[in-house]
Amino acid sequence: MFGPRVIQVEPLVTARGVRGPFDYARPDGCDVGSVVDVPFGRQRLRGVVTALAEESEHKLKAPTAVLDVSLPPELVRLALWMADDVVSTPARCLELLLPPEGVAERTRFWADPVLPPPRPDGPPAPAEGDDRYTGIRLNANQRAVLDRLPDWAGDDLPTLRRLESRGLVEISARARPRRPEHLDVGAHHGDGRSAPVLNPDQALAVERIAAVLDDPGTDPHERRLLLHGVTGSGKTEVYLQAAQRVIEAGRTVLVLVPEIALTPQTVARFRRRLGETVAVLHSGLSKGERRDEWWRLRSGEARICVGPMSTVFAPVSDLGLVIVDEEHDPAYKHDGDPRYDARRVAAWRAQQHDAVLLVGSATPRPESWASLRRIGLPRRADGRDMPLVRLVDVRGTRGTLHPDVHRAIADARKAIVLLNRRGWATWMECADCGHTWECPNCDVSLVLHGARPGTDGSGPGGSLRCHHCGHQERPPTRCVACQSVSVGQHGLGTEQLADDLPGHVYRLDADVRDRASVLEAFGAADHGILVGTQMIAKGHDFPDVELGVVVDADATLRFPDFRAQERTFQLVAQLAGRAGRGGGPDAAPARVLVQTRAPDDASLRFAARHDAHGFLVEEIERRRALGYPPFSTIVRVVCEHPDEARVQAAADAVAVRMPEDTMGPVPLFRRQGRFRRQLLVKAPQRAATVHAVRWAVSAVIGEAAHRGVMLAVEVDPR
Ligand code: ADP
Ligand code: ZN
Ligand code: ZN
Repeated sequence: MFGPRVIQVEPLVTARGVRGPFDYARPDGCDVGSVVDVPFGRQRLRGVVTALAEESEHKLKAPTAVLDVSLPPELVRLALWMADDVVSTPARCLELLLPPEGVAERTRFWADPVLPPPRPDGPPAPAEGDDRYTGIRLNANQRAVLDRLPDWAGDDLPTLRRLESRGLVEISARARPRRPEHLDVGAHHGDGRSAPVLNPDQALAVERIAAVLDDPGTDPHERRLLLHGVTGSGKTEVYLQAAQRVIEAGRTVLVLVPEIALTPQTVARFRRRLGETVAVLHSGLSKGERRDEWWRLRSGEARICVGPMSTVFAPVSDLGLVIVDEEHDPAYKHDGDPRYDARRVAAWRAQQHDAVLLVGSATPRPESWASLRRIGLPRRADGRDMPLVRLVDVRGTRGTLHPDVHRAIADARKAIVLLNRRGWATWMECADCGHTWECPNCDVSLVLHGARPGTDGSGPGGSLRCHHCGHQERPPTRCVACQSVSVGQHGLGTEQLADDLPGHVYRLDADVRDRASVLEAFGAADHGILVGTQMIAKGHDFPDVELGVVVDADATLRFPDFRAQERTFQLVAQLAGRAGRGGGPDAAPARVLVQTRAPDDASLRFAARHDAHGFLVEEIERRRALGYPPFSTIVRVVCEHPDEARVQAAADAVAVRMPEDTMGPVPLFRRQGRFRRQLLVKAPQRAATVHAVRWAVSAVIGEAAHRGVMLAVEVDPR
């Protein structure tokens, strides 16, 4: 064989102890990206070829198998880069990129008719309408089957086999991909198969994107664009037309949306416009569907993939455009290991292919605002005015809702009410002795769920639940500490609010199983109130919502995090974005009421004026002054162990090895029976800081004294 004789294989094992790659002899047809089974000690392991080499200092064994599946070399590079970038392992990153295992291709039999060969001295070809099978003896059934070819659905195999033995048909097995058709639910209204006429802002946006797409010579910085369009400005239409251009030019497209719940709407819009070339990848699909969509993309049959964050790993080649919709959404940050940020991966992939990166939002992150070229859509596509936002000062208000807010909800035909606390009541407390009910495994209050106001004195019903470990218990009828029966419920949650409000109420939060159906029902309803956590503010395009309410804007504002202002601004602006859509330019503008005890807060004031520009300019200056991202990278280390002394010792051991201005270790609340300590470093040099933290953590992992303590590193925590 020509070329390098050694393959370097990264075994797909999750143990951090096994550090590849390992050398093996290179079989025929094996290249970077090939998936192989290799002998490893006494076991056989599956692995991915990450590199080739001329020689090896080891005695080489050969793989026992080379599989049919392989990764494009670009995705192998991605895995290696990502492992480094977010302090994970190549194996864990490679796992994200491979199709699901253990499902086979689905096939069906396919029969093609074989015409009797014309005799060289025979009569001229039969005229149209002639029976091709004249002179061949067939029974009625056989003739009927032949007449249906080649559109044969596979119902009469014995007859076909008989025809095959007479040389009249050829039977073969063909792939029959599983298609996630159930995702093709309709968007509520608006666009169909053909593109609407773009308004001037949209047309200009598409033109500017096209100019960058068509000019491969533009400097890489120019190829990263931010589509800053107010809510309802028609960003999706711009994405669609940009994507269409790229597909027509023969290249491929990735479209990322933040939520599975939002995927069907977006997928439906892309499918209707671009057809079968659209694929979807996400965890809501069956294994078989995921496998087949993966192969459609890998083979080039599908050239655009739409879906949530994992879409960024779609095995497409020749990428031309990567779109990230609602780029501000924290859902793009993955929670498990590897703790990657899909937006960062999107930028990396775009850069590898010289593709255009297009991120869109009404409320962009300061990071994107500061570094990307901006394209604006300043008006709503339907010509309506932005909703009127009023900050309602609730200092001195008794009860959950200000009287004005209560009246507005009662008067509105369709309203959306946001409260970022799920459950019935957030905590229970004894009115006599102050005892509170906490989780036995975590240092947090238990949340009351499924309660109804008790009328018979038998207690609230429902259950007390921990939102961090799943612990459940029955709600108390009296205090365990002092036997008092006056146990109070505090902190109203979405369940209770939904119960309190008049009229037809729809509820949407993480406890609701079929969220897509709730969204659909509310979208189609003539009147009603949608109550829910922040997920109701995300990207949905409901017509005719007259009123939006934020019950407690201070909840995000009070959060001790440098992103508190950014989150608050986004939440209010995004909720306002759900109101006043559809209905035409003459419809009265919708209203949004924001309850707060801090009506002078800058982020709320900017949000009330729909002034993202003003907010971002100020916020970026604040970040610069305090050295927060994008002017630095934050890396966080969390140590966990059931024994508090041991976790403290490990955290101290990490701390002495960390870069100079590390904060901590500080205790985090105990979770799932584990004590936790956090260390935080904020530094301008990303790569160097990540490297230093990795070194500190590996040193402690290697020490026998700290064995068993879990150490997790998170770069850019959300
Ligand atoms: P965004 O994503 O910016 O919030 P959408 O893409 O959901 O906005 O568009 C808002 C609404 O405007 C949708 O119902 C869409 O069908 C409609 N729309 C977008 N562009 C046009 C257009 N050029 N003409 C008419 N309607 C449009
Ligand atoms: Zn008590
Ligand atoms: Zn718990």
